[in-house]
Amino acid sequence: MAALELDLFLCRTDNFGVLLHDPQSGATASIDAPEEKPILEALERRGWTLTHILTTHHHGDHVAANVALKERFDAIIIGPAAEAASIPGIDQSVRHGERFDFAGHPVNVIETPGHTAGHICFYLPQDKLLFAADTLFALGCGRLFEGTPETMWQSLSRLLALPDDTTVYFGHEYTLSNARFAVTIDPDNAELKTRAAEIEETRCDGGFTAPTTIGLEKRTNPFLRAADPKIRSHLGMEGASDAAVFAEIRKRKDNF
Ligand code: ZN
Ligand code: FE
Repeated sequence: MAALELDLFLCRTDNFGVLLHDPQSGATASIDAPEEKPILEALERRGWTLTHILTTHHHGDHVAANVALKERFDAIIIGPAAEAASIPGIDQSVRHGERFDFAGHPVNVIETPGHTAGHICFYLPQDKLLFAADTLFALGCGRLFEGTPETMWQSLSRLLALPDDTTVYFGHEYTLSNARFAVTIDPDNAELKTRAAEIEETRCDGGFTAPTTIGLEKRTNPFLRAADPKIRSHLGMEGASDAAVFAEIRKRKDNF
């Protein structure tokens, strides 16, 4: 099986567009569809034809181009069963634990409620790829619009269980502000400090901070590190549950 090819670009102001392409069959998926024009430009630049849209959740900045792209390419839209009613053009709805096939590559559906009640992530175990959209960001996580901190913590724990060498694409280039916040929660983490400095440079040069890996996030993303003794003592929450520590970190970020 040939390796999948990826193309990453910016849509709207800070949404990532990602195309996933199987060179053998020509199948090409857009992970979410934030904006038609940059997706068309990326397809054109690569010489790819869109066959699928994989929708992670119902927010407008993730489904805006669903219908236009479907009309243009007759692309199949696969999205979360729990939000099917609010996903424009959806053809196939999928649930937690379901597996479907993208050009011979298995795709596992991981439900990660919290940002929205039905948010899903797409995990390709053979390709070691995760599309986390607005659940997990580089050094951050999605805002809790439709879920409690407990729910989101459970969702993030599902992603934490994936292999460290999983490559993670995510929904927004929010990494610079995430990094500036992260160092206030985990100030003694040397790897985080180094990473934060690199991010300042990357963003200053106009580069993207995606993708990341599960391993790197585990070591540096404070939202995944609620169990860390240093973070707990920094927050004065030594005896609290992981979910409670996560909730405190999320609250601080909301007010950062
Ligand atoms: Zn969203
Ligand atoms: Fe979003």
